Amino acid sequence: MIKVEHISKQFGTNDVLKDINLEVPENEVVVIIGPSGSGKSTLLRLINHLDVATSGYIHVDGEDITDENNDISSIQAKMGMVFQHFNLFPNLTVLENITLAPKRVKRLSVDEANEEAKKLLALVGLSDKVNAYPKSLSGGQQQRVGIARSLAMHPKYLLFDEQTSALDPEMVDDVLEVMKDLAKQGMTMIVVTHEMGFAREIANKVIFMADGVVVEEGSPNAIFGAPQHVRTKEFLGKVL
Ligand code: ATP
Ligand code: MG
Repeated sequence: MIKVEHISKQFGTNDVLKDINLEVPENEVVVIIGPSGSGKSTLLRLINHLDVATSGYIHVDGEDITDENNDISSIQAKMGMVFQHFNLFPNLTVLENITLAPKRVKRLSVDEANEEAKKLLALVGLSDKVNAYPKSLSGGQQQRVGIARSLAMHPKYLLFDEQTSALDPEMVDDVLEVMKDLAKQGMTMIVVTHEMGFAREIANKVIFMADGVVVEEGSPNAIFGAPQHVRTKEFLGKVL
């Protein structure tokens, strides 16, 4: 379980996150929605220790990733992050992008790493792109390679900062299908998304953030069907 407790983050005088609390139980999908600038990406970056909180705690399976006395990289290794910009290495093929870290970090042999990468490419529907270079792929295909690359490290948790708005609609669907499959298999995920239909379908719990606070959280039916807070109603009124 990932437990965010009283997390605040300031950039200079800008209070970007204010006393955030949330829980991500195992085998569940927590979806974070909210207006641009509400602090969603910042929160994901803090959870993965890509940035450091001003105050508060983030326990991953009981270990606090904000405590520098802990082995931060071993906690980080439990989490795979799929970025909105695909961050693939342009000079490496799809296969090489996926096998690089398993070979270097997990010390897999070339054959082992290649075999597993091919299975993962089949999972994300890209078996025909093994030897392609990233620039020859569409945005949605690149994002799916990014997912396969994260999965190759066997993370316990997957964090998505999706921003599929950069993608064409038909590519969005391909990426979302892969994520739905992962959810069905019980992968624990935190998903930041602007796709409300998808959020409703995939989430066990929806968190609505605005101005650095969690305004409201609940089941998809509660948040989308009967939002309580005026800010949630306003936001959903605009995006649905
Ligand atoms: P979007 O939906 O547009 O992706 P978001 O909810 O992910 O928005 P964040 O990217 O977390 O929002 O940004 C929240 C606030 O923090 C914004 O006001 C942003 O300008 C500020 N911010 C984010 N990163 C930094 C940084 N490195 N330095 C200073 N300010 C930052
Ligand atoms: Mg963002």
